Order: sequence, then structure tokens, then C-alpha cells
Amino acid sequence: MNEETSFSEFADLSEALEKTSKRNEKKRLISNFLLKLREDEIKPAVTFLVGRPFVEADSRILEVGGRTLYRIMGKSKQETLIQKPLTILNVKEYFEEVAKATGKKSRKRKENIIKGLLSQTTSLETKYLLRILQGELKIGVVEGMMLEGISEATSINLELIQRCNMLLGSVGEVARIALNIGREALEKIGLQLFKPIKPMLAEMSYNLVEVLKYNGGKTAFEYKFDGARIQIHKKGDEIRIFSRRLNDVTESLPDIVELAKTEVIAKNTLVEGEVVAIGSEDRPLPFQDLMRRFRRVHEVGSMTREIPLKLYLFDILFLEGETLIDVPYVERWSLLNQTCGSHLLAKRIITDNLEEVNAFLKSAIKAGHEGLMAKALNSNYTPGIRGKKWFKIKPTEHLDLLIAAAEWGYGRRIGWLSNYHLAARDEETGEFLMLGKTFKGLADNEFKEMTRRLEEIKISEDNYTVYVKPEIVVEVAYNEIQKSPHYKSGFALRFARITQIRDDKGPTDVDTIGRIKVLYEKQFETKSKVTLRQQL
Ligand code: AMP
Repeated sequence: MNEETSFSEFADLSEALEKTSKRNEKKRLISNFLLKLREDEIKPAVTFLVGRPFVEADSRILEVGGRTLYRIMGKSKQETLIQKPLTILNVKEYFEEVAKATGKKSRKRKENIIKGLLSQTTSLETKYLLRILQGELKIGVVEGMMLEGISEATSINLELIQRCNMLLGSVGEVARIALNIGREALEKIGLQLFKPIKPMLAEMSYNLVEVLKYNGGKTAFEYKFDGARIQIHKKGDEIRIFSRRLNDVTESLPDIVELAKTEVIAKNTLVEGEVVAIGSEDRPLPFQDLMRRFRRVHEVGSMTREIPLKLYLFDILFLEGETLIDVPYVERWSLLNQTCGSHLLAKRIITDNLEEVNAFLKSAIKAGHEGLMAKALNSNYTPGIRGKKWFKIKPTEHLDLLIAAAEWGYGRRIGWLSNYHLAARDEETGEFLMLGKTFKGLADNEFKEMTRRLEEIKISEDNYTVYVKPEIVVEVAYNEIQKSPHYKSGFALRFARITQIRDDKGPTDVDTIGRIKVLYEKQFETKSKVTLRQQL
């Protein structure tokens, strides 16, 4: 076997990638680097390059906050002692050790492992290692660019590489197979039970007329539930349930496991849906109550009585050995119906009649749900992709934004991080760009809890502001999007207020600058705004 690749080569590549903004140059640099790697290095190297310590589908986390890193850096700077060059595989092993440290005194143990690692790095290596630890490499390599690099290195068509990435949910694993096994292996890739798949996402739409026009007439409209998305994997008697962020949540949902055992009649299948917490008269409870169910690991039994859940299924992706993502929506729905029975399915109509859709939207809102999902009848299922095959239609406009930093409060809010910097995602560079600040929307206990969480993920701090890792996503309402010369994003939100803390979402779910631009333009189409109001 070849010699291991040093981490300094990785750092040099990162530096070169950071310096160029030319797509083709980036692609060439990535491709050359990939071709030099050993098989066992491909997955970790690619994962690091997209700014993550572990592949996305891996639930291991480092749990090392910015504050810890700060402390370590302060102490270990003088002690740097480079004996032999650190390799990419060494770094991977160190990360695994950090993630393994759990339980009592784990914080100290994690700190010591990272200290050991940082005592072996040069200043350039330290720069990029710290960025991986903080979850953002800032070199302008988003997953899409990485896939292009893999395609360039292997001459395998980009569509096949993208499809496999959707199915495997691991760009590192796609790179390993493409580079070491080849095209045929990629062509055979299907869904595997108990390996979670990234959910398909929807674009926002305001205008039902446009949705119908875009779909060329008849369209499926389903209730859009304000709950948590889950995928249920069933293999014989064994059931595993995964969240939208691909975490295994089976233990928190024994009632749903039971339901799937008895009501899902297929032997081997993967079905998808939304769970909603239910209060009196079967009406949905606020999202926070639902999240209490998901966080609960102990005494799950009493919680299932206190906060009962209702399951609404809306898709099927695998049935008795067959991957269904290329099967059109209408056929998938009919298979779902045969597999589960209509009582578990989301409420739905298929129509091209605007009045009917408006009435259906009204009934969804009246029943306490969020709005509608419009789905193209012939659409395939594109895991992890937000596209125009599904549209979400919500009467009130919200954005999912990242808390990128927070300022200390004053007056009644003294001691709390209470003014939040809200950022959207630049889909080209992966950067998070600010759209404004808000101190509105949270209750006192939520401010306290948010302060604790933000301090845990602190990267740096100046007089008033604490900068944090890209982790916490909040749903934000606003009155207007304005052009702004102050922010690099070019936009600012007027009267932004937090409506929910979205712990079920992660940084990749954050709304994009592209969407902000579209929303900004839409504001001038009074017609669509009026239509929206009329829908209620
Ligand atoms: P959003 O969270 O605003 O991006 O909207 C997309 C989310 O709506 C999905 O991830 C699901 O969790 C949820 N959802 C609720 N009802 C449906 C439905 N009928 N079909 C698909 N997704 C739904």
C-alpha cells in the first residue's frame, strides 16, 4: 500500500481552494488531490473537505465547543512539538477518539485528546483543523462542487454521482466507490433499510395559480402538518425510525413503532411521514410539545400518554427489495395505500380547480395544520434536494435562519445572550450571511436555555457579541425584506421575530440567499400578495 497522505497536503489544498474563486480551478484541484489518495483515506478526506468531522449520516458528534477550543489553543500554542507528520488517517482516528469519550469526565478527556492532536500540527494545519472542528471549512467547497470534482476525477457522469450521493447520503462514500470500484458499482446502488436517506424538500410558493400552471394542470395537494418528519424502516419484525436529520429516534417513539408493526403490512419497506403531537379534540399541539417527545429518553411510557402522537404517512421509498425513488408520485402513493391502508395517509386531493384548492387550504388551516404541500403527479423522489416538484403553501411567511452570533442583553435581559444575528445560507459558497438581528419571540426561560446552548458552541467573542458554530436554526417571521448596504447579503429583514426554535433542522436546511432574492422580488407583485391573503 502507498504511504499515507499527510494532513499538511490537505491543509495546502484547503489553502489553494480558499484562494481561488474559479469553479474550474477548484474542480481541478479537488480532482488532482482525490486521485492521489489511498482508498482508506478517500472518505475522511472528502468529508473534511466539505467541512465535517464525520460523514453526514453518522450520528457521532464531537461535542467540543468553541470555548473549549479557545482554552486549548491558549495553553497549547507554546507546546507545539512536531515529531512526525500527521496524516489524514491520524486526524480521523483522533476525531473518533473524541466522539467515543462519553460519560463522567468526558469533557476533560475530549479536551486532552484535542490537545494531543493540536500539539502535532503546524500553524496552517491548525487553521484548517480548527475549522473542521467548528463545522465550517470556509473554502467555498459545498457538496455540489465536491460531486463535480469526483466526476472530473473519474470521468463518470455527474448525474450518476449525484444520484448515488442522494441515495447514500455520504459524499465521502460516493467518492470511495467511484474512485476505487467504478461506474458499475455506482449503477447498482439502491436504498438500504436501516440506513437513513436524506428527505426530499419543497420550495415555497405563494401563488396557487402559478403552482397549477407549473404542473400543467392536475396536481396533488396534501395537508402540510406542522410536526416532525420521520422515515420508518421495516425489515421483518424490526423497525427503526429516523428523524429529518437522520438521527435514530426509535427509542423515543415506541407508540409509532407499535403502529408500524401492526398497520404497515409489507415485510420490508421504508415509508415516510410526519408525526404531530395531539391535544384535545385531536387538534395539533405546538411544535415545542412535540420536541419534548423527541428529547425524551427516560420514562418514555408516561410521555406517550401525556403527549400522544398522530402519524400521517405521505411517501414510500422502498418495498420488498425495490427502490422506488424513480417511480412517479401517483404510483408511489398507490403502493403506500396498499401497504398501509388509507387511514394512516395524509389528507389529499388531486385537482386543477383553484376554488377546490382554496377550500382545501382553508380546511387544513381550520384543522390546525400549517398549509398545503403541492406535489407534481409524475415527479420522482429526489433525496436531499429542494426543487419545484414539491411546493409548500403556507399562508404566513416564515424563514428558517441560522443563529450565527448573539449579543449580550441589557436591562431586564442582562446576563442573557438575547439579541440574535440571523443568517441565510449562500448556496454558492456555503457561507452564512447576515440578514438582521432580533431579540423578539422567546420567553424568559427560552432566553436562558438559548444562552446556555450558545455558550456551548461559542467560537469567539468580542465586547458585546458571541460568535457561534453554525448549528442552531430558528423559524423567523418578518414584515418585509429590504435592500441593505450594511450586510454582505445585500438584504435586511424588517421586524424579524423568532416564531420557533427548529431543533429538527440543521445548517443545510437554512433558507438560501437565492430564496431571499426571490422573496424580495415577490413583494412587488401585489397580485400574489393579495391572492395569498384571499386564500385565508
Ligand atoms: P419546511 O419545513 O417548511 O421546509 O417544509 C417541509 C416539511 O414539511 C417537510 O420536511 C415535512 O417535515 C413537512 N411536511 C408536512 N406535511 C407534509 C406532506 N404532506 N408532505 C411532505 N412534507 C410534509
